[in-house]
Amino acid sequence: MDQQQQSAMFGDMDPEAFRRYGYKMVDWIADYLANGKEYPVLSQVEPGEIRGALPARPPQEPETMEAIMADVDRVLMPGITHWNAPGFLAYFANTGSGPGILGEMLASGLNVNAMLWRTSPAATELEQVTLDWLRQALGLPEPLFGVINDTASSSTLYALAAAREALSDLEIRQKGLAGRADVPRLRVYASQEAHSATDKAAMTLGIGQEGVCKVATDDELRMDAAQLEQAILRDLEEGWRPCAVVATVGTTSTGSIDPVAQIADICEKYGLWLHVDAAYGGSAAVDPQMRRVLDGCERADSLVVNPHKWLFTPMDCSVLYTRKPEILKAAFSLVPEYLRSAQNQDEEVPNLMDYGTSLGRRFRSLKLWMIMRYFGQEGLAARIREHCRLAQWLARQITATPGFELMAPVHFSLVCFRAHPHGIDDEQQLDKLNEGIINRINASGRFFLSHTRVNDRYTIRVAIGNIRTMEHDIHALWDTIQGQPSQS
Ligand SMILES: *Cc1c(COP(=O)(O)O)cnc(C)c1O
Repeated sequence: MDQQQQSAMFGDMDPEAFRRYGYKMVDWIADYLANGKEYPVLSQVEPGEIRGALPARPPQEPETMEAIMADVDRVLMPGITHWNAPGFLAYFANTGSGPGILGEMLASGLNVNAMLWRTSPAATELEQVTLDWLRQALGLPEPLFGVINDTASSSTLYALAAAREALSDLEIRQKGLAGRADVPRLRVYASQEAHSATDKAAMTLGIGQEGVCKVATDDELRMDAAQLEQAILRDLEEGWRPCAVVATVGTTSTGSIDPVAQIADICEKYGLWLHVDAAYGGSAAVDPQMRRVLDGCERADSLVVNPHKWLFTPMDCSVLYTRKPEILKAAFSLVPEYLRSAQNQDEEVPNLMDYGTSLGRRFRSLKLWMIMRYFGQEGLAARIREHCRLAQWLARQITATPGFELMAPVHFSLVCFRAHPHGIDDEQQLDKLNEGIINRINASGRFFLSHTRVNDRYTIRVAIGNIRTMEHDIHALWDTIQGQPSQS
């Protein structure tokens, strides 16, 4: 125990020690971000290895920050998969950008709980202002109410809760769903390519997995709007109560874009809530040249976009927009006496706890505000455009090279392809071959790729989205894919 710790059996780390360790921590992070290539992108540890290297019992005596940080380096770092590395191209790559990391640091320094307006007016008002900036940057018309959640999964859950609340005659908020003969089974529609967040929301909301109708897709993996309408008509005939449609702009598997405008027509015709899942693809619209990807989304009742995916914001930050905040609030607002403020305050300003299940809320808008100011819309757009350019470059190599084929159109920065050597047409053999390519690349440590299945074929995904991924990384990846040692 050092002297400071001894003399401080009560109270926190003293301010001078905090300053010292804080500077060291910033140095550590700056070195880490600068030297990303020293580590294999995908952690190479075995299951249980990290746990086994840590004591099973809690420390009884105080320990020094030096000892703690030494274990970060020695024990934890081998078990880190490096999402901030330029070679991270799996799932959807994301980024802890400099201003975003500093914003997180300040948020934890302030340690604000933004549950009510008065529990930090700046947190609530900055969230409203920042999300209105983002709305404008995305080219979406006002009025549009925005609120930040942890993830797109939460945002989608809340959006579908609002859709359920919009069926006000069923009084589900009050009476629940179970044991009621007077409530028809509810149906939510999403394409076969939609994210599992919709299924999870249905499971949570009492709609059930059977309540999610998976609409077939066309040959470009987009929801088939004619099939959607047929499914709704069939359900109406069979006594289901259609509730909502989830359209996706940028599916997780291949980045396909559902025909939102056509789907909006159908939603209007049958009185259904339209939720757009643009968790990944929505960010592209900050580039005016890409704005058309959100065509039709101005008619959505709700839309989710994740700055923690492709807007250079560290985990976590998901934005839920809705044109019907009063319905979202009706689904969730419940104010016990101990949370009541002066009446006029509650009417003048939103209390953001009213728009979801959580009471406590992190000050997430701080990092997004810093990012939007530090890069500016032009800076954000330039980075997104570059990622899309790199994806198009890779797609051109794949198309031009015998033995490889593109598996889906490239709308954003996600490239889906497979090796398909001349003379090999057995699907199982091709699956194995491509799985082998991914395993070989991931074991090399320089890159991390993940896969999907497109039309039931094993497909390699290259998801470019990290701010540190540069042209030479993608060139080196293409060399590696072709079996050549990478140049850099
Ligand atoms: C990643 C993703 C999600 C889930 O995002 P979380 O924030 O991790 O919950 C939902 N939908 C789409 C289209 C996604 O790509």
